[in-house]
Amino acid sequence: MNNQFAVIGLGLFGSALCEELQRQDAEVLAIDIDEVKTRQIATLCNHVLVADATDEATVAELGLANFDIVFVAIGDNLETSILTTLVLKEAGVKKVWVKARDKFHAKILQKVGADKVINPEWDMGRRVAQSMLDNRLFDYLELGHDMVLTEFVIGLQQNSRTLGDLHLLQQSNFQLLAIKRGEVLHNVLTGKMELQLGDILILAGNKHAIDHWLDTL
Ligand code: ATP
Ligand code: ATP
Repeated sequence: MNNQFAVIGLGLFGSALCEELQRQDAEVLAIDIDEVKTRQIATLCNHVLVADATDEATVAELGLANFDIVFVAIGDNLETSILTTLVLKEAGVKKVWVKARDKFHAKILQKVGADKVINPEWDMGRRVAQSMLDNRLFDYLELGHDMVLTEFVIGLQQNSRTLGDLHLLQQSNFQLLAIKRGEVLHNVLTGKMELQLGDILILAGNKHAIDHWLDTL
């Protein structure tokens, strides 16, 4: 069964979201109050609509409650973003994901019922810092359906810790395939195995699970 998504607000972020969802053959409805914005995206997206998402009657009419995820990508206007989130939750939308401008905005969105709050600049900042530290040898190799393959280099913080300490062998959503140490590839892995500076972990599995594990390091 295909998931149905709606994206409200077609700024840079919302447009990128629609373009990628469409590219991956998902059903996506793109909504903006500004006709010019909808016209700009019409070539990239099959379903485009001019509407005011803060209007309860419009939300009901569009049947947004039946969509799997409705994404609110109105970043700069706090009031509109918060009100839209509230209207969508009250209309019964199961999952409302919202882009936040800052931590204060994120907090309010959570209070009014947002199911997931994304702060792209904050997330991207952390990600760029990680790549500056060069822990990950290459960015994710996408395998489709949120599955990725990646490599992680053991730094000072993980040096001398065991695979057991890092909970690497009991993950259900991703797997440590092997460890590259110098020119040797170790694929018989035990919880007692101690990691050394420069070891390269080869990980595969769900991208979010890997990200979550990286965040715990
Ligand atoms: P980005 O940084 O991703 O370019 P942004 O966060 O600056 O975007 P905004 O310009 O604040 O985004 O708003 C995104 C879009 O939301 C705009 O195209 C705007 O027309 C649209 N928008 C604003 N209010 C509403 C509304 N009530 N209903 C639908 N769309 C709206
Ligand atoms: P955000 O990531 O919050 O969206 P932004 O892109 O809006 O940030 P700006 O406000 O344009 O960022 O600027 C970022 C920071 O760079 C500001 O704190 C500003 O004071 C600083 N900055 C601007 N010009 C210079 C400069 N010439 N030298 C050093 N810092 C500067």
